[in-house]
Formats: sequence, structure tokens, C-alpha cells
Amino acid sequence: MKTIDSYNFGGKRALVRVDFNVPLSKSNEIEDDTRLKAAIPTIKKILADGGSVILMSHLGRPKNGPEEKSSLKHVVAYLSNALGVEVQFATDCIGDESFAQSAALKAGEVLLLENLRFYPEEEKGNEEFAAKLAKHGDVWVNDAFGTAHRAHASTAVIAKFFTDKICGLVMQAELDNAKKVLEGGEKPVTAVMGGAKISDKILVVEQLLDKVDNLIIGGGMSYTFVKADGGEVGKSLCEKDKLDLAREIVEKAKAKGVNLIFPVDTVIADDFNNNANTQIVPKGQIPAEWEGLDIGPESIKLFSEVILKSKTILWNGPMGVFEMPNFAKGTIAIANAVKDATEHGAFSLIGGGDSASAINNLGFGNDVSYVSTGGGALLEYMEGKVLPGVAALEA
Ligand code: AMP
Repeated sequence: MKTIDSYNFGGKRALVRVDFNVPLSKSNEIEDDTRLKAAIPTIKKILADGGSVILMSHLGRPKNGPEEKSSLKHVVAYLSNALGVEVQFATDCIGDESFAQSAALKAGEVLLLENLRFYPEEEKGNEEFAAKLAKHGDVWVNDAFGTAHRAHASTAVIAKFFTDKICGLVMQAELDNAKKVLEGGEKPVTAVMGGAKISDKILVVEQLLDKVDNLIIGGGMSYTFVKADGGEVGKSLCEKDKLDLAREIVEKAKAKGVNLIFPVDTVIADDFNNNANTQIVPKGQIPAEWEGLDIGPESIKLFSEVILKSKTILWNGPMGVFEMPNFAKGTIAIANAVKDATEHGAFSLIGGGDSASAINNLGFGNDVSYVSTGGGALLEYMEGKVLPGVAALEA
């Protein structure tokens, strides 16, 4: 795979697929600039080489063509400021006007195309659309890890129209950091899995059984395992059609010598509400009308001890309903344990699903080794799937 650092962009127009899918407020202010910030080094390197840059991305989920709230014009001012270059904007992606703009770009200049998903052809992976997009650049750079699991026109199909296909710095960092865990990290390797549903994570859990020494399972998904083991889970999240699967995982973990660790106690509530009445009960002893919304203090102690002894840590999914302050203690405690382990030299990767925003919102974003920008893409990568956006760079 060609990387940014090994390529000289001098005199070239680089068509760069970025992930500018950032949350916008009702008044179109950028609410979280993580993805924009992450893309800056790749753009700067191309400009420093004497190249010009045509940026393309999607934003939001527009279903019926152009719409004001999903326009990429809302990020132009931010980009101009971050790059120190007046970023030009094209109000379309494949119209005469945008082609005139990209053709006129001089070294050091940047053009941002309008939202790719204003064209249904993008998500359909339409080849004609990809061929037209390709006319904007001499080389294609893919830096959009967050959409690498989609075979869309700009993320994968477009590759066939370029000789030079280059892996951007975000993409490279994401793959390198994921590989640190998946391709044999320093032992002991510990994965901490949480979040709502076992069905969303099952393929990841199965893959991890071959890679980790310890697998900690907390959050809503743990109750299916408790129920499968004959415990009482009351009204807690529980996927009754996954009980056999849960038992299978426990057996597989045993066979592979993986230390599978579940919560030993639970914070339960009589309502799904921050101000509900609460109690702490041992594992599998949740009364009928109550539900588990966080891990208890003994579980925090147990999980933290394992995390602190680990040299490689992967964390995906909260330990409880962390959006409600009264049920965020478990997740915050685990974040602190991961932070401490990192300070003591462990490598820690946080990501998959909404884990990145959770860790950032709780204020731990800078205390771990790497926070992945790719939610679904990282999960699919961890499942062992080939990501079309990555395969396109390798072809
Ligand atoms: P995921 O996207 O699968 O990582 O799930 C994240 C969501 O799981 C968060 O919104 C949490 O509120 C939710 N969650 C975690 N633990 C529980 C639980 N014990 N009961 C209900 N929801 C939970």
C-alpha cells in the first residue's frame, strides 16, 4: 500500500476522500471537530509537497438530494482556519462548474466538493459516477476510515480509475493501531466489551477469543450471559434468542484458555430513569421488576485489577447507561483504570460503535493511546472482514 509519506505530491491534484461526517447543531455549528482535525495532517502534507487538494466527503444521511442542513459548506470556515488556506467550495460534485474549479486549482490550493450523498449514485457504488469524480484528480487518496466498510463510489469503486492510490494518514493510523491489538499485542492482552446488545458484537467477540488473554464483558450485553448461566436478570436487557450463543462463547473461551470475566455485582434500578430507586445486588439476583443499569463496586474492583495488569487493552462499549450520571460510575471507573494502565506503559485502543464519543464526552480522550474515529468500520475490521475502502488501496 502506498502511504502519504512515501509519495511526492508535487505538481499533482490529489483527490482526497475524507470523513467530514461531523455532528452539526440546529444552527449548523460544528459540535465535534474530531474528524475534521484528524484530516488536517494529510492535507497539509500534500500542500507542503506542492500539490493541490480536492476534498470529498459525505455528511449526514440526506435521502432526497441536496438539503441545507447536510451541506459541507458549513465546514469551509473551520477548514480554512485550520489549514491557513482559503478553502474554495464547489456547490456540486460532478457538474461543469466543479470541474472548472478543480482544473483551475494551483499548487497549495484546496477545493471542497459538496456532499457526495446528495447523489444517490454515491451509496450505490455507481461506476459512472465514480468515473466522473475521478476526473477531479491525478491521484486518489483514501483517508476516510470511518466509511472504509462501505463499497461506495468515492470510497472504493473510484480506485480503478487511478494508477496512484494512496493511504491517508488517518487511515494508516487507524489500521496500524487496530493491528497492534489484532495481530498479537504485548501480553497480557485484554478486551473490554460493553454496550447494549450481544448481537451487535458477537462476531467481534468470537474473533477476539483467538487474540486475547482476558475478555471482560460488561454493560447491557452481560445479562444475556448471566441469564444463560441460570441467573435472574429481571427487566434488564436480555436477548433470549441468544442464550445458546452465549453458552457457546463461554465454552469456546474455556477451550481457548481465555479468561472470560463477567460483572459480579450490578447496580439495579426500578425504572429506566436517572432518578429511579437503586440497589446493588450480586450477579444473577435481580428481582423481577428491576433492571441492571451499571456494574457494581465489586465488579469495578475486579475489572480494574485485570486492566491494570494488562499491556494491551481494547475497549468497546460502556459498562452501563453512562448517559445517566447515576449509572455512569462503572464506565468512568473503567476509563480511569484504562488511563492508569496507559500511564504505566500499556497500549490502549478505544473504539467501535459510539465508544469514541463516550470516551471523549467523559473527558478521557487524551488519556488513552488511541481513540478510533471509525465506529462501524473498526467493528467490521475487528470481525476480520475485508474493508472495501482498504482493499481498494491494496489492489
Ligand atoms: P453500543 O452502541 O452497543 O456500544 O451500546 C451503547 C449503549 O449501550 C449506550 O447508549 C448505553 O446506554 C447502553 N447500555 C449499556 N449498558 C446498558 C444496560 N445495562 N442497560 C441498558 N442499556 C445499556
